[in-house]
Amino acid sequence: MTALASDPAVTLDAVTRRYGETTAVEDLSLSVADGEFFSLVGPSGCGKTTTLRLIAGFEEPTGGTVIFNGEDVAGVPPEDRNVGVVFQNYALFPHMTVGENVAYGLNFADPPGGASDDQRVAELLELVDLPGTQSRDPRSLSGGQRQRVAMARALAPGPDVLLLDEPMSALDAKLRERLRVQVREIQQELGITTVYVTHDQEEALAVSDRVAVINEGTAEQVAPPRDIYHRPASRFVAEFVGDNNVFDGEVRAVTDDTAIVGIGEERISVGISDREGPAVSVGDRLTFCVRPEVLTVPGRSNRVTATVESAEFLGETTRVHLDWADHDLTVRTRDALDGDVTLGFDPEDVHVVERRN
Ligand code: ATP
Repeated sequence: MTALASDPAVTLDAVTRRYGETTAVEDLSLSVADGEFFSLVGPSGCGKTTTLRLIAGFEEPTGGTVIFNGEDVAGVPPEDRNVGVVFQNYALFPHMTVGENVAYGLNFADPPGGASDDQRVAELLELVDLPGTQSRDPRSLSGGQRQRVAMARALAPGPDVLLLDEPMSALDAKLRERLRVQVREIQQELGITTVYVTHDQEEALAVSDRVAVINEGTAEQVAPPRDIYHRPASRFVAEFVGDNNVFDGEVRAVTDDTAIVGIGEERISVGISDREGPAVSVGDRLTFCVRPEVLTVPGRSNRVTATVESAEFLGETTRVHLDWADHDLTVRTRDALDGDVTLGFDPEDVHVVERRN
């Protein structure tokens, strides 16, 4: 097969990886475009790390194909895949200086672009915003700085693909937020195809061009962050990504742009005009979601009266937990809510997640 410019940088075609009775990755298909920042997000044990290891070549699939630029890479060892890998736990060599650690990443190969090793190390430390730290002992650096050295080392030989496995999970929240911005900036500056593994859905939304939400070894949705958040394709995605109110109900009536859905005695108007897929009909069962931040005091078409049960003050907003006709309801608001409150939302703010008939 000849590689075409239009071939995705990395493709997984129906990839499965079993360990005895355990299926870590199951029939997973996805493509990462050249230069894309692509994240794998999902709960612990869903198969993210295994997927990354299959791309890196540390593991071989038990079924399906891993393809780089149109070429099947079965049997190609990690060192010949031209990937740079950054792990969760820095893995810097403590007996080497920062500069030696980065130079080690060159794997005794000549640096790209005809630079000397020293020039290349200086250039990489500049890139990760640690200029002039060549002679430092890595143990004298903060966690965030060490992780940036690990990135410089992974980038040293000029890999085609950068693979990052939970690179920030050992860092505190503030540092993680800063580092994720830096990682994105470095990725943009180099235009390097990046596959990023995280269990932190907010992190994935913040940095990625596209996100794959993984559940039990398979992708439930692959889409840009805004679609993942506003148009979740399954109940799992709706519940995993951000706070959400997810309900099941039965369609009682349909107009051009709205379905009236019954949940017990309650009725909710659900917008269906921008829905893709089969038309919604009376009698269908719908799973739909309403984000906590769209529920506000009335003036909207849908009104629900609910009772405040508890509240968490988060600074910018308060997350309020309510009981609505024996359903849990979460609201994000700046208003002080107490006792029985009537909340409103528009049909267009309701997203249909699943439909069954
Ligand atoms: P985490 O976020 O906790 O790191 P993950 O999504 O990265 O989880 P994986 O590490 O890919 O998940 O593991 C997926 C499943 O495969 C788990 O059930 C795990 O126990 C199993 N697994 C992974 N590697 C092996 C192995 N070498 N031998 C046996 N089982 C394995």
